[in-house]
Amino acid sequence: MTSPRPRAGILDISPYVGGDSDVEGAARTIKLSSNESAIGPSPAAIEAYRALAAELHRYPDGGSDSLRRTIAETFGLEAERIITGNGSDEIIGTLVSAYTGPGDEVLYSQHGFLMYPIAAKAAGAIPVAAPESDHTASVDAFLAAVTPRTRVVFVANPNNPTGTYLPAGELERLRAGLPDDVLLVIDAAYAEFVSRNDYDAGAELARGADNVVMTRTFSKLYGLAALRVGWAYAPADVVGVYHRVRGPFNVNAAAQAAAIAALRDQEHAHKARKHNDVWLPWLTAEFQRLGLTPIPSIANFVTVDFGADGPTSAPAALAYLNAHGILPRAVAGYGLPGHLRFSIGLEDENRAVIEAVEAFLATSDE
Ligand SMILES: *Cc1c(COP(=O)(O)O)cnc(C)c1O
Repeated sequence: MTSPRPRAGILDISPYVGGDSDVEGAARTIKLSSNESAIGPSPAAIEAYRALAAELHRYPDGGSDSLRRTIAETFGLEAERIITGNGSDEIIGTLVSAYTGPGDEVLYSQHGFLMYPIAAKAAGAIPVAAPESDHTASVDAFLAAVTPRTRVVFVANPNNPTGTYLPAGELERLRAGLPDDVLLVIDAAYAEFVSRNDYDAGAELARGADNVVMTRTFSKLYGLAALRVGWAYAPADVVGVYHRVRGPFNVNAAAQAAAIAALRDQEHAHKARKHNDVWLPWLTAEFQRLGLTPIPSIANFVTVDFGADGPTSAPAALAYLNAHGILPRAVAGYGLPGHLRFSIGLEDENRAVIEAVEAFLATSDE
């Protein structure tokens, strides 16, 4: 008996599991499991989405022309070097399948975003994790892990789920150390939240090199995760490859319309950033006050060490918090079994988290 078999590697994939979105029996749930925007999208984006209802019989603009122009104007980039995708996840997967195949290696960091090894396996390639130090990607470890079979290197900057980052100088050192035929993908999904002088999302590197791509998303700061819109700034050759293999209408019309409106409302984007600037340090300091160790984050989430065993372990904390309607993200799948990741929420949500964690620690003290 024979039945259809997928390509080698595909059955090795553990399907990506998104953050929990509800718990049975809880009256109110506080969802802090997917790093979504605490304040939601711009009202103008919601309006643009609604307005599209009258045009549902029309195909979308397959080239996302207006969206690409708006991105270019907003970020000071060239529209012809911008590509769009059904979430940046689609761009990640498409690039990996275009640039790698069986036997090739895809390099990422030890606690890096899970979509990289998933995309590698889906393409039949071999995911290779470079060690981190202090939960931070290491340029030396990346460069030491490069082999003649390395085709793509992914750096999430800042990284999910650690929230840590490589400064611009380190990214430049990474690029300089890579062979010219290795594609460096800088995944800057959280770039809009970052306010550090030594941080660069990667646009400058991508502008000046033929092997650097910067990916971005509307799912995080712009609050449009449901619509699935991502984009990337890439060298002309990579843009040409992407257009050959992507779906012809890969970003739907409502998503394009809402994303354009979101970009035009920079006041709202500013509000989202300001909210994070207040509550990220607050939550970090409160976890420390409770005797816990958060990993220093510059994104819109903080990942906290509860330990993997014992009465106050991450699994015990998760069970307690879930029972109280609070949904952080378990990150054992990222090699962090003792940690939980909390997205920054609204003020009352953040306060509820700290109250519940304090109560949990007190209960298990008894
Ligand atoms: C959330 C996230 C993405 C984004 O995904 P979309 O597909 O654009 O929603 C990409 N990379 C990282 C590191 C993320 O955390």
